[in-house]
Amino acid sequence: MSAELHIPPHPIPGISVDESDTSFPVRRVYCVGRNYAAHAREMGKDPDREPPFFFLKPADSVVPAEGSVPYPPLTSDLHHEVELVLAIGRGGANIAEANALEHVWGYGVGIDLTRRDLQAEAKTAGRPWEWGKSFDAAAPCGPLVPVSKTGHPATGRIWLSVNGDMRQTGDLAELIWSVPEIISLCSHASRLEPGDLIMTGTPAGVGAVVAGDVISAGIEGVGEITFKIGAPTL
Ligand code: MN
Repeated sequence: MSAELHIPPHPIPGISVDESDTSFPVRRVYCVGRNYAAHAREMGKDPDREPPFFFLKPADSVVPAEGSVPYPPLTSDLHHEVELVLAIGRGGANIAEANALEHVWGYGVGIDLTRRDLQAEAKTAGRPWEWGKSFDAAAPCGPLVPVSKTGHPATGRIWLSVNGDMRQTGDLAELIWSVPEIISLCSHASRLEPGDLIMTGTPAGVGAVVAGDVISAGIEGVGEITFKIGAPTL
């Protein structure tokens, strides 16, 4: 007996494109951990010794960084992490650093929302980070801007404020692992495909937000976002 399927195909997650009606289709969201020295130190790690490591967020956890983003369940310590997001436009495996930037379609400003209490529990227990990093609306992202407008930003201020108070400030020049290095390393672990996003890590100053807080963030030469943490919806 064969069961009949009544499940329609899922919509492809997308992220808006700056000054355009089109949507960039999201395939995977790779994230780099501890990629600014000052943030590695605030998380209790030596920034000079550790190779980069990656984790992923679900593609459909990418939501527009505008309006209201719900406070997730299971946490009382939701943290903001502002990050440069790069969008892959051309796939490849084992990409050389020298060619890596040719694979970038554009850049954006994104937030790696983190249930820090669940992440800390996972670290202590030697368990995966997923419940700390992967949940509904875990990756609010502003519109992607094509490389034709941004170039490849290697320097520039990156910042985040909560209710007007500056919480995170840094400069893209402080990335421990550069964008070409990240792309190359990631592509040696999995084949990158068009539609992949890579969140490149956050500068120091991460901290908690609560429902009602207004998060603003920006990256010089890329863009700015503002959204509110809404009431829990689960
Ligand atoms: Mn992060």
